[in-house]
Amino acid sequence: MPKPDRRSPEAAEYRRLYKTARWLRLRERQLAAQPLCGMCLLIEDVTAADTVDHVKPHRGDAALFYDPSNLQSLCKYHHDSVKQRLERGSKIVMYGLDGYPIEFD
Ligand SMILES: [Zn+2]
Repeated sequence: MPKPDRRSPEAAEYRRLYKTARWLRLRERQLAAQPLCGMCLLIEDVTAADTVDHVKPHRGDAALFYDPSNLQSLCKYHHDSVKQRLERGSKIVMYGLDGYPIEFD
């Protein structure tokens, strides 16, 4: 039996969540409170964040999606590269200015 395409119902739900007024307000609040990319700050880079990321992937779960403590501000680079790889299960190691690795999980 072919695997069902588990992406499509989830993807539709994601798109719906990102269009809600509740999310747009939450996103604005997050960027106002934390205007710099959190991952850039780890390596003492100062970059304006333009993306609000869910620390723990919400996978369409509204409770996680709207949880303000599950949000972090990221720049587009970090959101598109690092987070996508993390969510696919890759281990990402960045090096801090002290030369020690910073691990994400
Ligand atoms: Zn960044």
